[in-house]
Amino acid sequence: MKVYNTQSKRKEEFVPLVPGKVSMYVCGPTVYNFIHIGNARPMIVFDTARRYMEHKGYEVNYVSNFTDVDDKIIAKAIEEGVTAQEISERYIAECKKDMAGMNVKPATTHPLATQEIGGMIEMIQTLMDKGYAYNVDGTVYFRTKKFKDYGKLSHKNLDDLRSGNRSLLVTGEDQKEDPLDFVLWKPKKEGEPSWPSPWSDGRPGWHIECSVMAKKYLGEEIDIHAGGEDLIFPHHENEIAQSECCNGKPFAKYWLHNAFLNIDNRKMSKSLGNFFTVREISEKYDLQVLRFFMLSAHYRSPLNFSAELMEASANGLERIRNAVSNLGYLLEKADGAQARESAEKDGGASTAQNTTAEQNAGMTEAERAELANVMAFETKFDEAMDDDFNTADAIAAIFELVKYANSNVSSGNTKAFIQAVRDEIIKLCDVLGIIAEEQQELLDTEIEKLIQERQEARKAKNFARADEIRNQLLEQGITLLDTREGVKWKRA
Ligand code: AMP
Ligand code: ZN
Repeated sequence: MKVYNTQSKRKEEFVPLVPGKVSMYVCGPTVYNFIHIGNARPMIVFDTARRYMEHKGYEVNYVSNFTDVDDKIIAKAIEEGVTAQEISERYIAECKKDMAGMNVKPATTHPLATQEIGGMIEMIQTLMDKGYAYNVDGTVYFRTKKFKDYGKLSHKNLDDLRSGNRSLLVTGEDQKEDPLDFVLWKPKKEGEPSWPSPWSDGRPGWHIECSVMAKKYLGEEIDIHAGGEDLIFPHHENEIAQSECCNGKPFAKYWLHNAFLNIDNRKMSKSLGNFFTVREISEKYDLQVLRFFMLSAHYRSPLNFSAELMEASANGLERIRNAVSNLGYLLEKADGAQARESAEKDGGASTAQNTTAEQNAGMTEAERAELANVMAFETKFDEAMDDDFNTADAIAAIFELVKYANSNVSSGNTKAFIQAVRDEIIKLCDVLGIIAEEQQELLDTEIEKLIQERQEARKAKNFARADEIRNQLLEQGITLLDTREGVKWKRA
């Protein structure tokens, strides 16, 4: 598998630090509002990278933070007259709902900045002790000039940056030794959340949180660090400086960055009014369509959001789902006798004994040979994904498989063969986090089955089991109503 490393500016063979395991850190959102569809891009593309690595057999430890202390959160709290914590808790909960809608797997750990202040103070102290940080009236800065590798990720011309920043020096920042130095700790302002530290009552800078959380949950050296391309400089450059100077080791082996999402070919911005939250999109589309749309382009290509492209994605997804549901229909229709007949025609001597139900469910010789053609689509899919997660080509491989299924699979095939083709489409979609199976119907029948089981448990006075089923349904937002006409259920 090859991945494009921002640091080396080329595709590199992916070799994890520990064979079979991947440690991956993805910078998460600052939670002061509903997430917008730009924020959704790194969530979806790196969730897909994770799923693909899991598909290849890696055990992935995936960490993604929520920045829950920040100027924008504080401003929103003041605006609403509530605490910053209330704002961040509200929007973390909303963000998790959006993630579930987009079928983004929860991270192995979702750390919160405010829960990791102790670790941040410790890392800043180490940087102070090693001479990489200095305190000016309670504000602690990182001394960028002391870190020789500063700039190695973004490949920026530091001299240009220095002179640019020097002329832009904002009031208060002239305490810095160097225009490129950045804040590790800052004293509180009136009404702001704060924590005691050896330097001042205050709060951490933004960059330090990711260095600390990556270290705590993944270790001093990690395989993959990812985020949107706007984070390359200064955020990720600063993370490298902090982590490498504190730990004395290289920080991340591979740096992956997604390109930006634009709207109608213009930069997404609130002032232009071309800004959509994931929640707004969910009112018009199944969020699976949004996911499909995001994956229809390579993650390093800029992607333009437009109603036309969303319609095209909806149609593409529909095409796959139709094929899956058609195969489901063929599966029900596939006639055992017909399959047996063709098995006998193909199989010769060995099929003469094919009389048990289990053997009837087996494929014909011809189908077994044909299966190699089906698996070739998976090879194509894997090759695309092995090439720096080329989801656009991976989707093309799925479409080819769908086309194959539509024109080559019929009710004359054995159930086993139809099932194998259907499972293959569902499996490849699942690697991309795309749900190819119509869920609603399946879910309804599952619910009915569980209700039936609960009724039987109650009849048998097994109330513990009955309660367990009620709770299991409740967890999925299904409430049960015991009425005179029987049990009714509804979704939350
Ligand atoms: P923020 O909450 O601004 O820190 O952003 C959270 C994540 O979303 C970061 O990885 C950003 O790089 C990413 N991001 C923000 N806007 C966009 C956009 N328009 N397109 C792609 N990624 C974005
Ligand atoms: Zn970060």
